[in-house]
Amino acid sequence: MKKFAANRVGGSAFRGLLRRPLSEGAVAPPAQTTRVNLRGSLQLRFVDAGSCNGCEVEITSAFAPHYDAPQYGARLVASPRHADGLLVTGVVTHNMDGPLRQTLAALPHPSLVVACGDCAVDGGIFRDAVGVKGVVGDIVTPDVLIPGCPPHPRDIVRALRRLSGR
Ligand code: SF4
Repeated sequence: MKKFAANRVGGSAFRGLLRRPLSEGAVAPPAQTTRVNLRGSLQLRFVDAGSCNGCEVEITSAFAPHYDAPQYGARLVASPRHADGLLVTGVVTHNMDGPLRQTLAALPHPSLVVACGDCAVDGGIFRDAVGVKGVVGDIVTPDVLIPGCPPHPRDIVRALRRLSGR
C-alpha cells in the first residue's frame, strides 16, 4: 500500500513536469551591448570574492536546465585564459582581494566584468562587515551590474543574453 502511494506521488510529480515547460521559453534576442565582439558565445570565469553563497545558488539555477543560460551561448569555464570575462559575486574580502586581481590580470584583453548581486554591485548588506576590504568597483569597473539579493536566475540569464546577443 505504501509503495502504491509513493508511486502515485511520483506519477503526479511526473505529470506536473509534463504540463509545465521544462525550460524558460525563449524570447526575442536582446540587443548585444558589449564592447567585446562575442559572436554569440560568452565564456565566463566565475569568482566568489566574498559572497554568502546565496548568489551562487541562483547562478547554479541560471546555468541548470530550467533557465538554461548555455542555450544562449553563456558558459562557465575553468580558467581565465579561456574566458571572455569575469562573473563575480560578493564583496571583496581581504583574503580574496589578491586572487581577484590575479584572475583579472589573467583574462585576455579586452574582456568583460559582470558583477552579480548587490554585494558585488555596491557592497550590499556586507559593505562594512569585518574582513571586507571593499567592493568590485574599487578594483575594476564592471561592464554589467545584476542587482538583487540574490538576483533571480531569470535576471542573470537576461543580463548574460544581453552580452551574448542571443
Ligand atoms: S547579494 Fe545577497 S545573496 Fe548575494 S552574496 Fe550578497 S548577501 Fe548573499
